[in-house]
Amino acid sequence: MTASPPPSPPGTTEESGTPDGTVLILGGTTEARALAGALTGFAVITSLAGRTSSPLLPAGEVRIGGFGGAEGLTGFLRERRIDILIDATHPFAARISANAAVAAGAAGIPLLVLRRPGWTERPGDDWRRVPDLDAAAAALPEAGRRVFLTTGRQGLAAFAHLDECWFLARSVEPPAGPRPRNLDVLLDRGPFTLDGELRVMRDHRIDVLVSKDSGGSTAKLDAARTLGIPVVLVERPPGTATATTVEELLKVIETLR
Ligand code: NAP
Repeated sequence: MTASPPPSPPGTTEESGTPDGTVLILGGTTEARALAGALTGFAVITSLAGRTSSPLLPAGEVRIGGFGGAEGLTGFLRERRIDILIDATHPFAARISANAAVAAGAAGIPLLVLRRPGWTERPGDDWRRVPDLDAAAAALPEAGRRVFLTTGRQGLAAFAHLDECWFLARSVEPPAGPRPRNLDVLLDRGPFTLDGELRVMRDHRIDVLVSKDSGGSTAKLDAARTLGIPVVLVERPPGTATATTVEELLKVIETLR
């Protein structure tokens, strides 16, 4: 009787069963999850901040919670003998990205940054680009009074003083802390569709959309264009991407083997 060899454990090469090294992915995005599933030949650890109570989990090992600043992250990189650090966090998660740059330098390992591209205005769009959430709040109520606020539950404080506006804030988890007086919360997690976004905006008689320039699905922007609604768009903090797609990043990793 012949026994077939056991399948290679995740993150190992078919030929040897031995991983080429260990990769730490700083995650919390769709792209990070896709990358963890697509990366072969490495042992993969994904790190999540722990902001949502039931996160969608990627393939491979997952750790949850902050590291304790750049120093804590450096310690983790050394302890777990990480060979490559990949920052695949959200374009607006500026603190962890800054920590990643410092920690990779301190540990002497390569840092790759995966950032999906920002959005591009199309004919029919009425976008008002602003540098931050405070400037987005300052654009109201001139831009509109019935506001679809999709900037995440942690940014509600910037809009808390706007008593003359009504807000529909969409977030995965219920918001905490200061928030506008006239506020309804829509608990929901993407992906969102054009039809769904049109329904939400029509049902709530939305007349302005506030969003970060997160990139990815354009459903809410397409809905705003269809309805002739202006968009107050918060620009990204500066940062340099190694790759803008999972495929591109996989190619860069090949060069590091
Ligand atoms: P942030 O301001 O850059 O990070 C704040 C702190 O949270 C960091 O200093 C770090 O704590 C911890 N942290 C963040 N990301 C982490 C990760 N992947 N693994 C372990 N610790 C992490 O980030 P944020 O804007 O609060 O976002 C938190 C997470 O949510 C990110 O992973 C991001 O990808 C995801 N996310 C953010 C947004 C957004 O709009 N900001 C939207 C969707 C998803 P220590 O200093 O203690 O290590």
